[in-house]
Amino acid sequence: MQDVVEVRREPRSVEEIRGDFPILSRQVHGKPLVYLDSAASSQKPLAVIEAMNAYYRSSHANVHRGVYEISEEATEALERARTKVARFINARQSKQVIFTRNTTESINLVAYSWGWANVKAGDLIVLTTMEHHSNLVPWQLLAQRSGARLEFVPLTPEGLLQLDVYARLLEQGPKLVAFTQMSNVLGTINPVKEMIAQAHAAGAVALVDAAQSAPHLPLDVQELDADFVCFSGHKMLGPTGIGVLYGKRELLEAMPPFLGGGDMIRSVSLRSSTWNDLPWKFEAGTPAIAEAVGLGAAVDYLSALGMDWVRQHERSITAYALERLQTVPQLQIYGPLTEELRGGVVSFSLADIHPHDLASILDQEFGVAIRAGHHCAQPLMEHLGLVATARASFYVYTLPEEIDVLVQGLRRALEIFQ
Ligand code: PLP
Repeated sequence: MQDVVEVRREPRSVEEIRGDFPILSRQVHGKPLVYLDSAASSQKPLAVIEAMNAYYRSSHANVHRGVYEISEEATEALERARTKVARFINARQSKQVIFTRNTTESINLVAYSWGWANVKAGDLIVLTTMEHHSNLVPWQLLAQRSGARLEFVPLTPEGLLQLDVYARLLEQGPKLVAFTQMSNVLGTINPVKEMIAQAHAAGAVALVDAAQSAPHLPLDVQELDADFVCFSGHKMLGPTGIGVLYGKRELLEAMPPFLGGGDMIRSVSLRSSTWNDLPWKFEAGTPAIAEAVGLGAAVDYLSALGMDWVRQHERSITAYALERLQTVPQLQIYGPLTEELRGGVVSFSLADIHPHDLASILDQEFGVAIRAGHHCAQPLMEHLGLVATARASFYVYTLPEEIDVLVQGLRRALEIFQ
């Protein structure tokens, strides 16, 4: 199967990029859609939709065991997608890229497989207060079953990690540290490279939750020297149902399987089995083939834009949003107020209007889609003394004019509720 859409290399305007996303030309409630919820899930360019379409139209069959032409094509498409992802994150070898369903499954894979083999009663696992539930609950489960201890790096009032506390926790010799590279609530970008180096100096393994960073920042796993990196396809222009676990080879080789079944074995007898090589040891059952193809097209698309361009665009749109939002009376922004310390995710509250009411008005009257709730970060909400916030998030297709519509909608909400 050939790649369907040609990769373009020249710089492109945001208007032109928007033309690649069919959904962005639709209306909601009679208004043009203003999609400000990419941190929850991004929209998809035609390149991704058509790559999956072409795969299903011409090459779909089950992978790996087929000796006929289209099964070989499907296998090749799956493995080509793996190579593209490996290149996108600068993994040394594509076998270090394991396809999962999403970030959540990737973290659970590590917690169960690596965790069970390595974490014992009394061991310490260091997390942070700003983690998504996906990077908390798997470790809670591991701690409950193993008797390990959990400790948390607290936050400064600005929404940054208290790195002096992190350094002190490392002195206790944790087995594992796991933290997000970018907060899905505060937008904070954490200094993960330095944090990983410190963790290694203390003898700990370091896992990075890159669900919010892989889509938005240049990601080089070798430069970070991360042991495990987890992210989701659907937040980075790819389809739902596909995620990635990157791991250092020696760690992955030593880990027992997570799920058992077809594809992950070398041989099976009635009472015992031996395991397949990486990465298939961790990919039990029929994989998400079309979704992998879609993710391959998504990373091609992002690479053609250039991740430096993506970051630059989001910095400027975030700076604009921070500036404009601060002109709205009674609006409070959570997290750092300077765009270089954060990504394109801005959580806020407006007077005492419930975030759900705010989101409904924005949707019904202005066609603006934002998220309202705890954003799967209830401990962080508790730290902020809130139950919920409103959250606007941006991506490669976000225009300053859309921030203007958001601000107009927020002013209107104030009129209605006050
Ligand atoms: N980690 C962070 C920081 C996230 O923002 C999210 C999703 O919002 C996740 C993990 C979980 O991602 P998924 O639901 O794709 O597994």
